[in-house]
Amino acid sequence: MPSTGKAQMSESGAIGVIAVTERGRSAADRLQSAWPDRVRTFTGERAGEELRSAFAECGAVVAFLAVGAAVRALAPVLGDKHADPPVVCVDEALQHAVAVLGGHHGGNALAAEVAGVLGAAPVITTASDAASAAPLDSYGADLGFTVADTAPLAPVGAALLSGRPVRLEYDQVWPLPPLAPGASAQTPPESAAALLRVTDCAVQRSGDQQVPTVTYHPPSLVVGVGSARGAAAEEIGGLIDTALAEAGLAPQSVRTLATVDVKADEEGILRAAEERGWQVRVLPAAELAEVEVPNPSDVVRAEIGTPSVAEAAALRAAGQDGRRAELAVAKRKSANATAAVARLHPRGRLALVGLGPGARDLTAPRALAELHRASVVVGLDQYLDQVRDLLRRGTRVVASGLGQEEERARTAVAEAQQGAAVALIGSGDAGVYAMASPALDFAGDDIDVVGVPGITAAVAAAHRLGAPLGHDHAYISLSNLHTPWEAIERRLHAAAEGDFTVCFYNPRSRRRAWQLPEALRILGEHRPPDTPVGYVRNAARDDERAVVTTLEAMLNGGAEDVDMYTVVLVGSSASRTVAGRFVTPRGYTWNSAAETVP
Ligand code: SAH
Repeated sequence: MPSTGKAQMSESGAIGVIAVTERGRSAADRLQSAWPDRVRTFTGERAGEELRSAFAECGAVVAFLAVGAAVRALAPVLGDKHADPPVVCVDEALQHAVAVLGGHHGGNALAAEVAGVLGAAPVITTASDAASAAPLDSYGADLGFTVADTAPLAPVGAALLSGRPVRLEYDQVWPLPPLAPGASAQTPPESAAALLRVTDCAVQRSGDQQVPTVTYHPPSLVVGVGSARGAAAEEIGGLIDTALAEAGLAPQSVRTLATVDVKADEEGILRAAEERGWQVRVLPAAELAEVEVPNPSDVVRAEIGTPSVAEAAALRAAGQDGRRAELAVAKRKSANATAAVARLHPRGRLALVGLGPGARDLTAPRALAELHRASVVVGLDQYLDQVRDLLRRGTRVVASGLGQEEERARTAVAEAQQGAAVALIGSGDAGVYAMASPALDFAGDDIDVVGVPGITAAVAAAHRLGAPLGHDHAYISLSNLHTPWEAIERRLHAAAEGDFTVCFYNPRSRRRAWQLPEALRILGEHRPPDTPVGYVRNAARDDERAVVTTLEAMLNGGAEDVDMYTVVLVGSSASRTVAGRFVTPRGYTWNSAAETVP
Protein backbone atom coordinates (compact mmCIF):
# COMPACT_ATOMS: atom_id res chain seq x y z
CA MET A 1 0.00 0.00 0.00
CA PRO A 2 1.48 3.40 -0.89
CA SER A 3 1.84 6.01 1.81
CA THR A 4 0.14 9.32 1.34
CA GLY A 5 1.29 12.88 1.76
CA LYS A 6 4.88 12.28 0.75
CA ALA A 7 7.42 15.07 0.45
CA GLN A 8 5.32 17.82 1.89
CA MET A 9 7.80 18.71 4.61
CA SER A 10 11.29 18.07 5.75
CA GLU A 11 11.22 14.45 6.78
CA SER A 12 13.22 14.82 9.96
CA GLY A 13 10.66 17.25 11.39
CA ALA A 14 7.62 15.24 10.22
CA ILE A 15 5.35 13.32 12.54
CA GLY A 16 4.49 10.00 10.93
CA VAL A 17 0.95 9.00 11.86
CA ILE A 18 -0.10 5.36 11.43
CA ALA A 19 -3.79 4.61 11.20
CA VAL A 20 -5.27 1.36 10.01
CA THR A 21 -8.79 1.39 11.44
CA GLU A 22 -11.70 3.68 10.61
CA ARG A 23 -11.48 5.36 13.99
CA GLY A 24 -7.73 5.70 13.79
CA ARG A 25 -7.98 7.31 10.37
CA SER A 26 -10.45 9.92 11.54
CA ALA A 27 -8.27 10.68 14.57
CA ALA A 28 -5.28 10.94 12.20
CA ASP A 29 -7.29 13.51 10.22
CA ARG A 30 -7.73 15.52 13.39
CA LEU A 31 -3.98 15.53 14.01
CA GLN A 32 -3.47 16.48 10.37
CA SER A 33 -5.77 19.49 10.67
CA ALA A 34 -4.23 20.51 14.00
CA TRP A 35 -0.68 20.36 12.57
CA PRO A 36 -1.05 20.64 8.78
CA ASP A 37 2.67 21.18 8.13
CA ARG A 38 3.95 18.44 10.41
CA VAL A 39 1.81 15.36 9.92
CA ARG A 40 2.49 12.72 7.30
CA THR A 41 -0.10 9.97 7.31
CA PHE A 42 0.70 6.27 6.75
CA THR A 43 -2.42 4.26 6.06
CA GLY A 44 -2.41 0.68 4.91
CA GLU A 45 -3.40 -2.89 5.50
CA ARG A 46 -0.18 -3.89 7.21
CA ALA A 47 0.23 -1.79 10.30
CA GLY A 48 3.66 -3.18 11.14
CA GLU A 49 5.16 -2.21 7.81
CA GLU A 50 3.67 1.26 7.88
CA LEU A 51 4.99 1.71 11.38
CA ARG A 52 8.49 0.66 10.42
CA SER A 53 8.45 3.01 7.41
CA ALA A 54 7.35 5.91 9.60
CA PHE A 55 9.99 5.02 12.17
CA ALA A 56 12.68 5.03 9.50
CA GLU A 57 11.55 8.19 7.71
CA CYS A 58 10.08 10.59 10.27
CA GLY A 59 11.26 12.62 13.23
CA ALA A 60 8.48 11.30 15.48
CA VAL A 61 5.74 8.67 15.26
CA VAL A 62 2.15 8.48 16.45
CA ALA A 63 0.51 5.08 16.01
CA PHE A 64 -3.16 4.30 16.50
CA LEU A 65 -2.20 0.84 17.60
CA ALA A 66 -1.98 -1.24 20.75
CA VAL A 67 1.33 -0.76 22.56
CA GLY A 68 2.06 -4.47 22.26
CA ALA A 69 1.55 -4.49 18.49
CA ALA A 70 3.77 -1.44 18.09
CA VAL A 71 6.54 -2.87 20.26
CA ARG A 72 6.55 -6.17 18.36
CA ALA A 73 6.67 -4.38 15.02
CA LEU A 74 9.49 -2.05 16.04
CA ALA A 75 11.59 -4.46 18.11
CA PRO A 76 13.82 -5.54 15.19
CA VAL A 77 14.59 -1.96 14.14
CA LEU A 78 15.17 -0.32 17.51
CA GLY A 79 18.48 1.51 17.78
CA ASP A 80 19.87 4.14 20.08
CA LYS A 81 17.45 6.15 22.23
CA HIS A 82 19.15 9.40 21.28
CA ALA A 83 18.83 8.75 17.55
CA ASP A 84 15.50 6.88 17.27
CA PRO A 85 12.35 8.96 16.78
CA PRO A 86 10.01 9.05 19.79
CA VAL A 87 6.91 6.86 19.49
CA VAL A 88 3.47 7.51 20.96
CA CYS A 89 0.64 4.96 20.80
CA VAL A 90 -3.03 5.85 21.06
CA ASP A 91 -5.67 3.27 21.92
CA GLU A 92 -8.67 2.57 19.68
CA ALA A 93 -11.01 4.33 22.11
CA LEU A 94 -8.79 7.46 21.91
CA GLN A 95 -8.55 7.60 25.68
CA HIS A 96 -4.79 7.33 26.18
CA ALA A 97 -1.75 8.72 24.40
CA VAL A 98 1.09 6.55 25.66
CA ALA A 99 4.71 7.70 25.37
CA VAL A 100 6.19 4.33 24.40
CA LEU A 101 9.69 5.22 23.20
CA GLY A 102 11.97 8.23 23.58
CA GLY A 103 10.08 9.76 26.49
CA HIS A 104 12.81 12.23 27.36
CA HIS A 105 13.61 12.89 23.73
CA GLY A 106 10.28 14.37 22.80
CA GLY A 107 8.01 11.36 23.41
CA ASN A 108 6.53 12.62 26.66
CA ALA A 109 5.93 16.05 25.17
CA LEU A 110 4.42 14.53 22.02
CA ALA A 111 2.11 12.33 24.12
CA ALA A 112 0.91 15.45 25.89
CA GLU A 113 0.39 17.29 22.59
CA VAL A 114 -1.50 14.41 20.99
CA ALA A 115 -3.60 14.04 24.12
CA GLY A 116 -4.39 17.74 23.93
CA VAL A 117 -5.68 17.52 20.36
CA LEU A 118 -7.67 14.31 20.84
CA GLY A 119 -8.96 14.97 24.35
CA ALA A 120 -7.10 11.89 25.60
CA ALA A 121 -4.97 11.51 28.72
CA PRO A 122 -1.18 11.40 28.28
CA VAL A 123 0.45 8.33 29.82
CA ILE A 124 4.04 8.94 30.91
CA THR A 125 6.15 6.22 32.47
CA THR A 126 9.71 7.58 32.58
CA ALA A 127 11.06 7.62 36.13
CA SER A 128 12.07 11.23 36.58
CA ASP A 129 8.80 12.53 35.14
CA ALA A 130 6.84 10.14 37.31
CA ALA A 131 8.67 11.66 40.27
CA SER A 132 8.13 15.04 38.65
CA ALA A 133 11.77 16.07 38.37
CA ALA A 134 13.73 17.36 35.43
CA PRO A 135 15.34 14.55 33.39
CA LEU A 136 19.12 14.59 33.60
CA ASP A 137 19.95 13.63 30.03
CA SER A 138 18.24 16.71 28.62
CA TYR A 139 18.87 19.00 31.59
CA GLY A 140 19.58 22.51 30.30
CA ALA A 141 19.36 21.28 26.69
CA ASP A 142 17.06 24.18 25.77
CA LEU A 143 19.75 26.58 27.00
CA GLY A 144 22.41 24.83 24.92
CA PHE A 145 24.01 22.69 27.64
CA THR A 146 26.00 19.65 26.63
CA VAL A 147 26.89 16.67 28.81
CA ALA A 148 30.64 16.07 29.05
CA ASP A 149 30.30 12.32 29.52
CA THR A 150 27.01 10.42 29.39
CA ALA A 151 28.18 7.33 31.29
CA PRO A 152 27.56 8.77 34.80
CA LEU A 153 24.00 9.89 33.92
CA ALA A 154 22.50 6.61 35.07
CA PRO A 155 24.17 6.35 38.51
CA VAL A 156 23.68 10.07 39.22
CA GLY A 157 20.04 9.86 38.11
CA ALA A 158 19.52 6.85 40.36
CA ALA A 159 21.05 8.71 43.33
CA LEU A 160 18.70 11.64 42.72
CA LEU A 161 15.62 9.49 42.30
CA SER A 162 16.33 7.53 45.43
CA GLY A 163 16.67 10.76 47.40
CA ARG A 164 20.33 10.42 48.29
CA PRO A 165 22.31 13.64 48.84
CA VAL A 166 23.72 15.01 45.61
CA ARG A 167 26.10 17.93 45.51
CA LEU A 168 25.51 20.72 43.00
CA GLU A 169 28.40 22.85 41.85
CA TYR A 170 28.11 25.67 39.37
CA ASP A 171 30.29 28.60 38.51
CA GLN A 172 27.35 30.73 37.36
CA VAL A 173 23.59 30.57 37.98
CA TRP A 174 21.61 29.55 34.87
CA PRO A 175 17.81 29.72 34.51
CA LEU A 176 17.32 25.97 34.97
CA PRO A 177 14.41 23.90 36.23
CA PRO A 178 14.75 22.43 39.73
CA LEU A 179 16.37 19.09 40.37
CA ALA A 180 15.05 16.68 42.97
CA PRO A 181 15.28 18.19 46.49
CA GLY A 182 18.20 15.91 47.36
CA ALA A 183 20.37 17.95 45.00
CA SER A 184 21.78 20.99 46.73
CA ALA A 185 24.74 23.33 46.60
CA GLN A 186 24.84 22.95 50.39
CA THR A 187 25.54 19.22 50.33
CA PRO A 188 29.11 18.90 51.65
CA PRO A 189 31.46 17.02 49.29
CA GLU A 190 32.17 14.33 51.91
CA SER A 191 28.53 13.29 52.29
CA ALA A 192 27.56 13.52 48.58
CA ALA A 193 26.56 10.28 46.86
CA ALA A 194 26.93 11.97 43.47
CA LEU A 195 28.02 15.26 41.97
CA LEU A 196 26.36 17.49 39.36
CA ARG A 197 28.41 20.31 37.90
CA VAL A 198 27.61 23.15 35.57
CA THR A 199 30.86 24.66 34.39
CA ASP A 200 32.72 25.94 31.38
CA CYS A 201 35.93 24.56 32.81
CA ALA A 202 37.34 21.41 31.26
CA VAL A 203 36.72 18.22 33.25
CA GLN A 204 39.39 16.12 34.80
CA ARG A 205 39.39 12.52 33.74
CA SER A 206 36.33 10.85 35.27
CA GLY A 207 38.53 8.42 37.25
CA ASP A 208 39.68 11.39 39.33
CA GLN A 209 36.22 11.85 40.84
CA GLN A 210 35.35 10.16 44.13
CA VAL A 211 31.65 9.80 43.28
CA PRO A 212 29.68 9.52 40.02
CA THR A 213 29.78 12.97 38.43
CA VAL A 214 27.79 14.51 35.61
CA THR A 215 29.29 17.66 34.14
CA TYR A 216 27.23 20.02 31.99
CA HIS A 217 28.99 22.56 29.84
CA PRO A 218 26.89 25.70 29.35
CA PRO A 219 27.36 27.82 26.21
CA SER A 220 29.16 30.62 28.03
CA LEU A 221 32.33 31.22 25.99
CA VAL A 222 33.02 33.18 22.83
CA VAL A 223 36.35 32.88 21.04
CA GLY A 224 37.55 36.01 19.24
CA VAL A 225 39.97 35.54 16.37
CA GLY A 226 42.01 37.68 14.01
CA SER A 227 44.47 36.52 11.36
CA ALA A 228 46.72 37.61 8.56
CA ARG A 229 45.38 36.95 5.06
CA GLY A 230 45.89 33.29 4.19
CA ALA A 231 46.68 32.04 7.70
CA ALA A 232 46.17 28.27 7.85
CA ALA A 233 43.21 26.69 9.67
CA GLU A 234 45.67 24.45 11.49
CA GLU A 235 47.57 27.41 12.89
CA ILE A 236 44.41 29.28 13.93
CA GLY A 237 42.78 26.17 15.38
CA GLY A 238 45.96 25.23 17.22
CA LEU A 239 46.21 28.69 18.74
CA ILE A 240 42.60 28.51 19.96
CA ASP A 241 42.92 24.98 21.31
CA THR A 242 46.04 25.90 23.26
CA ALA A 243 44.44 29.07 24.61
CA LEU A 244 41.45 27.10 25.89
CA ALA A 245 43.51 24.22 27.24
CA GLU A 246 45.99 26.41 29.09
CA ALA A 247 43.14 28.36 30.69
CA GLY A 248 41.44 25.08 31.63
CA LEU A 249 38.33 25.92 29.57
CA ALA A 250 36.01 23.41 27.92
CA PRO A 251 35.75 23.68 24.13
CA GLN A 252 32.14 22.38 24.49
CA SER A 253 31.28 25.66 26.20
CA VAL A 254 32.22 27.74 23.17
CA ARG A 255 29.04 28.99 21.53
CA THR A 256 30.54 31.20 18.82
CA LEU A 257 33.73 32.19 17.07
CA ALA A 258 33.73 35.93 16.44
CA THR A 259 35.86 38.01 14.12
CA VAL A 260 35.87 41.28 12.19
CA ASP A 261 33.88 41.75 8.97
CA VAL A 262 36.93 41.97 6.69
CA LYS A 263 37.68 38.38 7.71
CA ALA A 264 34.19 37.14 6.82
CA ASP A 265 35.60 35.02 3.99
CA GLU A 266 38.93 34.11 5.60
CA GLU A 267 39.27 30.45 4.72
CA GLY A 268 41.47 29.48 7.70
CA ILE A 269 39.11 31.07 10.25
CA LEU A 270 35.99 29.54 8.71
CA ARG A 271 37.49 26.09 8.56
CA ALA A 272 38.86 26.22 12.11
CA ALA A 273 35.33 27.08 13.31
CA GLU A 274 33.66 24.44 11.17
CA GLU A 275 36.00 21.69 12.35
CA ARG A 276 35.05 22.48 15.93
CA GLY A 277 31.32 22.78 15.23
CA TRP A 278 31.15 26.47 16.12
CA GLN A 279 29.14 29.11 14.34
CA VAL A 280 30.94 32.21 13.10
CA ARG A 281 29.88 35.74 13.94
CA VAL A 282 31.38 38.67 12.04
CA LEU A 283 31.25 42.16 13.47
CA PRO A 284 31.89 45.51 11.76
CA ALA A 285 35.30 47.06 12.51
CA ALA A 286 33.61 50.29 13.63
CA GLU A 287 31.65 48.35 16.26
CA LEU A 288 34.81 46.64 17.52
CA ALA A 289 36.59 49.97 17.74
CA GLU A 290 34.13 50.99 20.48
CA VAL A 291 34.99 48.06 22.74
CA GLU A 292 37.44 48.74 25.54
CA VAL A 293 40.17 46.10 25.58
CA PRO A 294 43.30 45.48 27.64
CA ASN A 295 45.63 44.98 24.66
CA PRO A 296 44.92 47.44 21.83
CA SER A 297 47.30 47.74 18.89
CA ASP A 298 48.01 50.87 16.85
CA VAL A 299 49.24 48.77 13.96
CA VAL A 300 45.93 46.94 13.74
CA ARG A 301 44.00 50.19 14.08
CA ALA A 302 45.91 51.69 11.15
CA GLU A 303 45.29 48.61 9.06
CA ILE A 304 41.58 47.83 9.59
CA GLY A 305 40.14 50.64 11.67
CA THR A 306 39.88 48.95 15.08
CA PRO A 307 42.66 48.68 17.65
CA SER A 308 41.55 45.16 18.56
CA VAL A 309 40.05 42.22 16.70
CA ALA A 310 40.32 39.10 18.88
CA GLU A 311 39.58 40.66 22.28
CA ALA A 312 37.02 43.14 20.97
CA ALA A 313 35.14 40.55 18.87
CA ALA A 314 35.04 38.06 21.76
CA LEU A 315 33.76 40.68 24.20
CA ARG A 316 31.28 42.20 21.78
CA ALA A 317 29.75 38.89 20.67
CA ALA A 318 29.57 37.60 24.25
CA GLY A 319 27.97 40.82 25.43
CA GLN A 320 25.18 40.98 22.85
CA ASP A 321 21.61 41.66 24.08
CA GLY A 322 23.01 43.67 26.95
CA ARG A 323 24.60 40.68 28.67
CA ARG A 324 27.54 41.22 30.95
CA ALA A 325 30.74 39.71 29.62
CA GLU A 326 34.41 39.73 30.52
CA LEU A 327 37.65 38.45 29.09
CA ALA A 328 38.56 34.95 30.23
CA VAL A 329 41.72 34.72 28.12
CA ALA A 330 43.55 37.87 26.96
CA LYS A 331 44.96 38.10 23.44
CA ARG A 332 47.44 35.41 22.47
CA LYS A 333 49.44 35.37 19.26
CA SER A 334 50.92 32.89 16.86
CA ALA A 335 52.91 33.90 13.79
CA ASN A 336 49.80 34.82 11.75
CA ALA A 337 46.84 34.81 14.13
CA THR A 338 45.47 36.18 17.40
CA ALA A 339 42.87 34.66 19.72
CA ALA A 340 41.09 35.70 22.92
CA VAL A 341 38.20 34.21 24.91
CA ALA A 342 35.32 36.04 26.58
CA ARG A 343 32.88 34.64 29.11
CA LEU A 344 29.28 35.82 29.23
CA HIS A 345 26.98 35.94 32.22
CA PRO A 346 23.68 34.15 31.71
CA ARG A 347 20.49 36.15 32.08
CA GLY A 348 17.79 35.04 34.46
CA ARG A 349 14.29 34.44 33.18
CA LEU A 350 11.07 35.88 34.53
CA ALA A 351 7.85 34.24 33.33
CA LEU A 352 4.66 36.17 33.98
CA VAL A 353 2.09 33.42 34.16
CA GLY A 354 -1.68 33.78 34.27
CA LEU A 355 -3.31 30.58 35.51
CA GLY A 356 -6.77 31.32 34.12
CA PRO A 357 -9.91 31.73 36.21
CA GLY A 358 -9.73 28.49 38.19
CA ALA A 359 -10.58 25.24 36.42
CA ARG A 360 -7.39 23.46 35.50
CA ASP A 361 -8.43 22.74 31.93
CA LEU A 362 -8.67 26.49 31.38
CA THR A 363 -4.99 26.92 32.26
CA ALA A 364 -2.88 27.13 29.12
CA PRO A 365 -0.47 24.23 28.54
CA ARG A 366 2.21 26.89 28.12
CA ALA A 367 1.50 28.18 31.62
CA LEU A 368 2.01 24.65 32.97
CA ALA A 369 5.24 24.34 31.00
CA GLU A 370 6.52 27.57 32.57
CA LEU A 371 5.63 26.29 36.05
CA HIS A 372 7.70 23.19 35.30
CA ARG A 373 10.55 25.20 33.94
CA ALA A 374 10.86 27.54 36.90
CA SER A 375 13.01 26.80 39.92
CA VAL A 376 11.38 29.64 41.87
CA VAL A 377 7.63 30.30 41.86
CA VAL A 378 6.35 33.52 43.38
CA GLY A 379 2.71 34.35 44.07
CA LEU A 380 -0.19 34.93 46.37
CA ASP A 381 -0.77 32.00 48.75
CA GLN A 382 -4.20 31.15 47.36
CA TYR A 383 -2.94 30.85 43.75
CA LEU A 384 0.07 28.83 44.84
CA ASP A 385 -2.28 26.41 46.57
CA GLN A 386 -4.13 26.08 43.27
CA VAL A 387 -1.01 24.76 41.49
CA ARG A 388 1.16 23.25 44.22
CA ASP A 389 0.61 19.70 42.99
CA LEU A 390 1.89 20.72 39.55
CA LEU A 391 5.22 22.05 40.74
CA ARG A 392 8.28 19.94 40.28
CA ARG A 393 9.90 18.61 43.41
CA GLY A 394 12.64 20.94 44.47
CA THR A 395 10.85 24.09 43.27
CA ARG A 396 11.32 26.94 45.73
CA VAL A 397 7.98 28.57 46.52
CA VAL A 398 7.82 32.18 47.68
CA ALA A 399 4.30 32.87 48.92
CA SER A 400 2.99 36.17 50.15
CA GLY A 401 -0.31 37.56 51.32
CA LEU A 402 -2.80 40.04 49.87
CA GLY A 403 -1.63 43.63 49.82
CA GLN A 404 2.04 42.71 49.34
CA GLU A 405 2.01 43.23 45.58
CA GLU A 406 5.04 45.46 45.41
CA GLU A 407 7.14 43.18 47.56
CA ARG A 408 6.06 40.18 45.48
CA ALA A 409 7.00 41.93 42.24
CA ARG A 410 10.38 42.99 43.62
CA THR A 411 11.12 39.50 44.93
CA ALA A 412 10.37 37.89 41.57
CA VAL A 413 12.54 40.38 39.69
CA ALA A 414 15.40 40.10 42.21
CA GLU A 415 15.39 36.27 41.94
CA ALA A 416 15.56 36.52 38.14
CA GLN A 417 18.40 39.02 38.43
CA GLN A 418 20.32 36.37 40.38
CA GLY A 419 20.05 34.25 37.24
CA ALA A 420 17.22 31.89 38.20
CA ALA A 421 14.18 30.84 36.15
CA VAL A 422 11.30 32.46 38.01
CA ALA A 423 7.55 32.22 37.46
CA LEU A 424 5.42 35.00 38.89
CA ILE A 425 1.89 33.65 38.95
CA GLY A 426 -1.56 35.11 39.26
CA SER A 427 -5.14 34.22 38.47
CA GLY A 428 -6.77 35.01 35.14
CA ASP A 429 -4.27 36.91 33.03
CA ALA A 430 -1.06 38.10 34.67
CA GLY A 431 -1.29 41.43 32.89
CA VAL A 432 -4.90 42.30 33.84
CA TYR A 433 -5.06 44.10 37.21
CA ALA A 434 -2.20 41.85 38.23
CA MET A 435 1.50 41.41 38.77
CA ALA A 436 2.94 41.81 35.27
CA SER A 437 2.94 45.60 35.27
CA PRO A 438 4.48 46.19 38.71
CA ALA A 439 7.11 43.54 37.94
CA LEU A 440 8.06 45.12 34.61
CA ASP A 441 8.16 48.48 36.33
CA PHE A 442 11.08 47.16 38.42
CA ALA A 443 12.72 44.92 35.80
CA GLY A 444 15.73 46.14 33.86
CA ASP A 445 17.04 44.79 30.55
CA ASP A 446 19.31 42.43 32.49
CA ILE A 447 16.72 39.63 32.55
CA ASP A 448 14.66 37.82 29.94
CA VAL A 449 10.92 38.20 30.35
CA VAL A 450 8.24 35.94 28.88
CA GLY A 451 4.51 36.35 29.32
CA VAL A 452 1.92 33.58 29.12
CA PRO A 453 -1.61 34.80 28.36
CA GLY A 454 -4.35 33.57 30.67
CA ILE A 455 -8.13 33.65 30.44
CA THR A 456 -9.17 36.72 32.36
CA ALA A 457 -12.20 36.74 34.71
CA ALA A 458 -14.36 38.87 32.40
CA VAL A 459 -13.93 36.42 29.53
CA ALA A 460 -14.53 33.37 31.72
CA ALA A 461 -17.64 35.03 33.19
CA ALA A 462 -18.91 36.17 29.79
CA HIS A 463 -19.24 32.58 28.62
CA ARG A 464 -21.36 31.70 31.62
CA LEU A 465 -23.65 34.65 30.97
CA GLY A 466 -24.03 34.36 27.19
CA ALA A 467 -22.18 36.67 24.80
CA PRO A 468 -22.05 40.05 26.51
CA LEU A 469 -18.68 41.08 25.04
CA GLY A 470 -19.77 40.83 21.39
CA HIS A 471 -19.20 44.53 20.86
CA ASP A 472 -16.95 47.23 22.30
CA HIS A 473 -16.39 46.95 26.01
CA ALA A 474 -14.39 48.51 28.82
CA TYR A 475 -12.85 47.04 31.96
CA ILE A 476 -13.01 49.19 35.08
CA SER A 477 -11.68 48.25 38.48
CA LEU A 478 -13.79 49.66 41.27
CA SER A 479 -10.98 49.41 43.78
CA ASN A 480 -10.08 52.89 44.93
CA LEU A 481 -7.25 51.65 47.15
CA HIS A 482 -4.65 52.64 44.55
CA THR A 483 -6.75 54.82 42.20
CA PRO A 484 -8.56 57.95 43.48
CA TRP A 485 -12.33 57.64 43.22
CA GLU A 486 -12.51 60.83 41.09
CA ALA A 487 -10.50 59.09 38.35
CA ILE A 488 -12.75 56.01 38.52
CA GLU A 489 -15.80 58.23 38.36
CA ARG A 490 -14.48 60.01 35.24
CA ARG A 491 -13.94 56.68 33.50
CA LEU A 492 -17.43 55.51 34.50
CA HIS A 493 -18.96 58.60 32.89
CA ALA A 494 -16.83 58.15 29.77
CA ALA A 495 -17.75 54.45 29.44
CA ALA A 496 -21.42 55.28 29.98
CA GLU A 497 -21.37 58.03 27.36
CA GLY A 498 -19.33 55.90 24.97
CA ASP A 499 -22.02 53.20 25.22
CA PHE A 500 -19.57 50.43 26.11
CA THR A 501 -20.49 47.17 27.76
CA VAL A 502 -18.68 47.59 31.09
CA CYS A 503 -16.95 44.86 33.15
CA PHE A 504 -16.29 45.67 36.77
CA TYR A 505 -13.32 44.00 38.45
CA ASN A 506 -12.88 44.27 42.24
CA PRO A 507 -16.52 45.37 42.44
CA ARG A 508 -17.02 45.14 46.16
CA SER A 509 -15.38 44.05 49.39
CA ARG A 510 -16.35 44.22 53.04
CA ARG A 511 -14.64 47.58 53.37
CA ARG A 512 -15.70 48.92 49.96
CA ALA A 513 -19.47 48.55 49.73
CA TRP A 514 -20.68 51.86 48.27
CA GLN A 515 -18.62 51.92 45.06
CA LEU A 516 -20.67 49.38 43.08
CA PRO A 517 -24.09 50.97 43.71
CA GLU A 518 -22.59 54.36 42.84
CA ALA A 519 -21.06 53.00 39.62
CA LEU A 520 -24.35 51.39 38.62
CA ARG A 521 -26.15 54.67 39.33
CA ILE A 522 -23.80 56.53 36.95
CA LEU A 523 -24.35 53.97 34.19
CA GLY A 524 -28.10 54.17 34.89
CA GLU A 525 -28.02 57.85 33.89
CA HIS A 526 -27.28 56.71 30.32
CA ARG A 527 -29.01 53.32 30.07
CA PRO A 528 -32.61 52.14 30.32
CA PRO A 529 -33.65 50.25 33.50
CA ASP A 530 -34.04 46.94 31.62
CA THR A 531 -30.39 46.96 30.46
CA PRO A 532 -29.02 43.46 31.04
CA VAL A 533 -26.56 43.01 33.88
CA GLY A 534 -24.77 39.75 34.58
CA TYR A 535 -22.46 38.76 37.34
CA VAL A 536 -20.48 35.63 38.02
CA ARG A 537 -19.00 34.70 41.35
CA ASN A 538 -16.06 32.27 41.22
CA ALA A 539 -16.22 31.81 37.46
CA ALA A 540 -14.82 28.42 36.42
CA ARG A 541 -14.38 27.35 40.05
CA ASP A 542 -16.23 24.73 42.08
CA ASP A 543 -18.80 27.03 43.64
CA GLU A 544 -19.46 29.09 40.53
CA ARG A 545 -22.67 31.13 40.52
CA ALA A 546 -23.92 33.13 37.52
CA VAL A 547 -26.84 35.57 37.52
CA VAL A 548 -28.43 37.46 34.60
CA THR A 549 -30.59 40.34 35.78
CA THR A 550 -31.28 44.01 34.96
CA LEU A 551 -29.79 47.34 35.87
CA GLU A 552 -32.99 48.25 37.70
CA ALA A 553 -32.91 45.11 39.85
CA MET A 554 -29.25 45.72 40.65
CA LEU A 555 -29.99 49.30 41.69
CA ASN A 556 -32.77 48.00 43.97
CA GLY A 557 -30.67 45.81 46.21
CA GLY A 558 -29.56 43.18 43.65
CA ALA A 559 -25.89 44.03 44.17
CA GLU A 560 -25.88 42.59 47.70
CA ASP A 561 -24.36 39.19 46.93
CA VAL A 562 -21.57 40.63 44.79
CA ASP A 563 -18.15 40.34 46.45
CA MET A 564 -14.47 40.40 45.58
CA TYR A 565 -14.70 36.96 43.93
CA THR A 566 -17.18 38.37 41.43
CA VAL A 567 -17.08 40.23 38.11
CA VAL A 568 -20.08 42.33 37.08
CA LEU A 569 -20.97 43.05 33.45
CA VAL A 570 -23.37 45.84 32.49
CA GLY A 571 -24.72 45.89 28.92
CA SER A 572 -24.53 48.67 26.33
CA SER A 573 -27.68 50.09 24.72
CA ALA A 574 -27.52 47.23 22.19
CA SER A 575 -27.35 44.43 24.80
CA ARG A 576 -30.40 42.17 25.19
CA THR A 577 -31.53 39.16 27.14
CA VAL A 578 -32.29 36.30 24.73
CA ALA A 579 -33.61 33.01 26.18
CA GLY A 580 -32.17 33.99 29.55
CA ARG A 581 -28.76 34.78 28.06
CA PHE A 582 -27.01 38.15 28.07
CA VAL A 583 -26.16 39.04 24.45
CA THR A 584 -24.52 42.11 22.94
CA PRO A 585 -25.04 41.78 19.17
CA ARG A 586 -22.30 42.94 16.89
CA GLY A 587 -24.90 44.81 14.86
CA TYR A 588 -22.79 46.48 12.20
CA THR A 589 -21.79 43.19 10.60
CA TRP A 590 -25.37 42.50 9.59
CA ASN A 591 -25.94 46.18 8.61
CA SER A 592 -23.08 46.15 6.11
CA ALA A 593 -24.18 42.75 4.82
CA ALA A 594 -27.66 44.17 4.29
CA GLU A 595 -26.24 47.06 2.26
CA THR A 596 -24.70 44.71 -0.28
CA VAL A 597 -27.95 42.81 -0.84
CA PRO A 598 -30.11 44.61 -3.44
N1 SAH B 1 -5.70 38.97 36.90
C1 SAH B 1 -7.09 38.66 37.23
C2 SAH B 1 -7.79 39.82 37.89
C3 SAH B 1 -7.26 40.17 39.24
S1 SAH B 1 -8.16 41.46 40.02
C4 SAH B 1 -7.80 38.25 35.94
O1 SAH B 1 -7.26 38.46 34.85
O2 SAH B 1 -8.89 37.70 36.04
C5 SAH B 1 -9.19 40.53 41.10
C6 SAH B 1 -10.62 40.61 40.64
O3 SAH B 1 -10.79 39.81 39.49
C7 SAH B 1 -11.62 40.05 41.63
O4 SAH B 1 -11.98 41.00 42.61
C8 SAH B 1 -12.78 39.72 40.74
O5 SAH B 1 -13.50 40.88 40.39
C9 SAH B 1 -12.09 39.25 39.49
N2 SAH B 1 -11.95 37.78 39.42
C10 SAH B 1 -10.81 37.09 39.35
N3 SAH B 1 -11.05 35.78 39.21
C11 SAH B 1 -12.38 35.63 39.18
C12 SAH B 1 -13.26 34.51 39.01
N4 SAH B 1 -12.79 33.26 38.85
N5 SAH B 1 -14.58 34.75 39.01
C13 SAH B 1 -15.07 35.98 39.12
N6 SAH B 1 -14.30 37.08 39.28
C14 SAH B 1 -12.97 36.91 39.30
